[in-house]
Amino acid sequence: MRKYLIAGNWKMNLTVQEGKQFLIDIKDQINSFHNVEILVCPPYTHLDSLSRLAQGSNICIGSQDVSTESNGAYTGEISTDMLSELNCKYCIIGHSERRQYHQESDQLINKKLTKLLATNISPILCVGESLADRESDQTFDVIKRQLTNAFNSINKDTVNIQNLVIAYEPVWAIGTGKVATPFQGQEVHSFIRNLLKETLSDELADHIQILYGGSVNPANIEDLIKQEDIDGALIGGSSLKSDTFLSIIKSSSQVYELSKS
Ligand code: PEP
Repeated sequence: MRKYLIAGNWKMNLTVQEGKQFLIDIKDQINSFHNVEILVCPPYTHLDSLSRLAQGSNICIGSQDVSTESNGAYTGEISTDMLSELNCKYCIIGHSERRQYHQESDQLINKKLTKLLATNISPILCVGESLADRESDQTFDVIKRQLTNAFNSINKDTVNIQNLVIAYEPVWAIGTGKVATPFQGQEVHSFIRNLLKETLSDELADHIQILYGGSVNPANIEDLIKQEDIDGALIGGSSLKSDTFLSIIKSSSQVYELSKS
């Protein structure tokens, strides 16, 4: 059975001091949740101190983005080597806010994915349809297009492809309080898993975690994560407070135990 991954995306929130306090608050309380991987993706300025603080615990630290380039005159960018040096285990790419506010194309996201797969940093590739796409029955076409373009020149033999994580984040659910129903989530997740089977292999499709993201909170996580193809969550707003984040981790861990028995 795939382990669950509960990932917090802090976006441009919390000071370094607040971030450190968050980690201190959850660190000692999560030791019993071995069936759940815990990830925090803070702003770049927090990576060094939070990585140090997380050492020896089961909290991983990840980045919210990465450059397509290795080094050089790319003002404002951060490289895979720099992230590795700071012990980043994961990196989010293709978040809808990057697509929307920074005009990131599927082609650019493909380059980032290729770059990350050449390292030991696990890419969390975000895909998701807008409200207009859903209302015009384009959801599956959009997801297929985003994934197919992201996978351009990537196949089952690509080094480290087994590290890939996908996050299904319907744009209409991000930060809106409108969560996808468990049925809507499962429907798209199983579509994604089938695409992974066709594009990669049955084995990889069974192995790759597919997270749901979009207005996840302690009240809705249980029903979402009970779905067969939902392997965790990428969480924005509800990852900013340690008690809310902990409560989501706790519920996920309980669902995991129940589904094994
Ligand atoms: C996100 O931005 O990845 C996200 C899922 O945000 P929220 O949980 O706030 O909807």
